[in-house]
Amino acid sequence: MALLQIAEPGKSTVPHQHRLAAGIDLGTTNSLVATVRSGRAETLADENGEHILPSVVRYTLDGVEVGESARQAAGEDPLNTISSAKRMIGRAAAEIGSLGSEQAYDFVSGDSAVPRIRTCAGEISAIEVSAEILKVLGRRAQDTLGGELVGAVITVPAYFDDAQRQATKDAARLAGLHVYRLLNEPTAAAVAYGLDRGADGVHAIYDLGGGTFDVSILRLNKGVFEVLATGGDTALGGDDFDVRIAHWILDQAGWVGESDRSVLRQILDQARVAKEALAGSESTRVSVALPGGRQWQGELSRDQLAALLDPLIRKTITTCRRVMRDAGISVDQIEDVVMVGGSTRTLRVRELVAEFFGREPLVDIDPDRVVAIGAAIQADVLAGNKPDDEMLLLDVNPLSLGIETMGGLTEKIIPRNTTLPVARAQEFTTFKDGQTAMAIQVVQGERELVSDCRSLARFELHGIPAMVAGAARIRVTFAVDADGLLQVEAREQTTGVSAQIEVKPSYGLSDDEIAGMLQASIEHASGDVQVRRLTEARVEAQRVIEALGTALAHDAEDLLSGEEHDQVQAALQRLIEVSAQSQDANQVEAAVKQLEEDCEFYVERRMNHGIRRAMAGHRVDEFNQEGGPKAD
Ligand code: ADP
Ligand code: MG
Repeated sequence: MALLQIAEPGKSTVPHQHRLAAGIDLGTTNSLVATVRSGRAETLADENGEHILPSVVRYTLDGVEVGESARQAAGEDPLNTISSAKRMIGRAAAEIGSLGSEQAYDFVSGDSAVPRIRTCAGEISAIEVSAEILKVLGRRAQDTLGGELVGAVITVPAYFDDAQRQATKDAARLAGLHVYRLLNEPTAAAVAYGLDRGADGVHAIYDLGGGTFDVSILRLNKGVFEVLATGGDTALGGDDFDVRIAHWILDQAGWVGESDRSVLRQILDQARVAKEALAGSESTRVSVALPGGRQWQGELSRDQLAALLDPLIRKTITTCRRVMRDAGISVDQIEDVVMVGGSTRTLRVRELVAEFFGREPLVDIDPDRVVAIGAAIQADVLAGNKPDDEMLLLDVNPLSLGIETMGGLTEKIIPRNTTLPVARAQEFTTFKDGQTAMAIQVVQGERELVSDCRSLARFELHGIPAMVAGAARIRVTFAVDADGLLQVEAREQTTGVSAQIEVKPSYGLSDDEIAGMLQASIEHASGDVQVRRLTEARVEAQRVIEALGTALAHDAEDLLSGEEHDQVQAALQRLIEVSAQSQDANQVEAAVKQLEEDCEFYVERRMNHGIRRAMAGHRVDEFNQEGGPKAD
């Protein structure tokens, strides 16, 4: 029997077109691209069936080589072969100098913001090197999928600052990719395991790659991952394992003399091959060519490997312990431990991690590919291939965003840990009669006083129509996009005049600084509240003083006797003094109240006077009949 094609009335029967999107893990050592096909996320292979692309770019006179062939050429052509560009991206020359990388590239001296390396193909930056890698992966995705990519999600370490994120986006743009968004690597790994679909809880992501170690503690809260703490070692990874094994090989071979660079490189390569083989077998044969035509052959066992690597692996465990402490989380609160990075294939790593966390880590998804797979899942959602209710909102803003209000106080508009993207608006008003401009200071932080927060930007709104204080309505809107870029707009509601500014909220703030600012807000919380109350009371006093001053100048002569005028003046003077001198919010508040009571008769008289003036020239019954509201 033929199947009927069923469609909802009014809806097309044509299946909606699948938009091509990819997730890219742009790694320090290796990079990968993945995509969702027929509901499954998978990494894509090159024409030789290789999924992993070494993050190495070689510049030659004939063009650019990327990947395995470049990696192999590194020994013979070190100055033109750039590896680990990720360590340099978004960094200034001075910072790179302190990275301690043994790679001696030929850096161009000068004070350009972006450091450049001299190669035979000209001067290039880390952004361009990364772009070459992204180009290859983007092309691979288009070739495999047979169409143009609509967009991509690119992963970055959780600790990447704004400059590093911006530089990564620039690299993608150079590669001709449309970036939906950047995604934190640990978040991507958690998404790959579907942890965002599970119950709320805390997860540890342990990522040991080629040259770096990262551990992140994520908390899933209503479908949103919050990074509680991150830590790691930017100079510890599989490469260091290789060095240990190479030393062991040289020891075993009884080699004591100097070895030249190419011999060492070859031994390091053999060490890596042996290490990787031990993920799948109990022992492996090692054979190396030593200087002077000597050959050495031996056997490396898993136990031997474990003994060699233990000190290094234990260093990562120490870091885990510290990060857990930073996050304020105990081991038994961790729901899952996710293994990421090629080096977690070494069984000894898994053993020590399992021992520390007291549970078996998740290893079902290939640790080399898990980040790319999570990125692909996210890209698929962002491309619109999933129903809206599956939309993932994965990032939160780390610190509150707000503006400065009278008295140097912060008014939070977007509180910390709000999911991104987000837009929030709040109305403000003028403080003075006839005020036609307003300065808007955008701040980030948890403290009550602007001076304790970080100022992000300042701009002015002009052209506010002159009105009495408090009458103008100025709507200030904060919008933060998925990458954490903030746009602030101020708009006067009656005329529509507006001004706006774009800021980068996390610019230059390291995770440590963010943690420090949070800590300070907790420590100062009660003191801050006192200061806030006093400041608010003073602002209110100031408002009353201004309003009364304006009123007196306007109509005191008509409405007050000489004696009454003196009485009001004296009350006003008292408030001015208390407000200036008292450090106690209660006193200032009481003084404001006192003034209001003392001047009540005057306020009443002004109101009556105002009404009489408004009605002048009209008959009283006119108001009761047509124009005014009916009395019945
Ligand atoms: P990165 O994130 O730094 O780009 P990867 O996650 O791709 O790096 O990890 C690369 C490291 O993983 C290399 O040091 C490599 O030797 C190591 N590695 C790959 N496969 C294995 C394996 N089977 N056993 C042990 N280590 C492995
Ligand atoms: Mg990685």
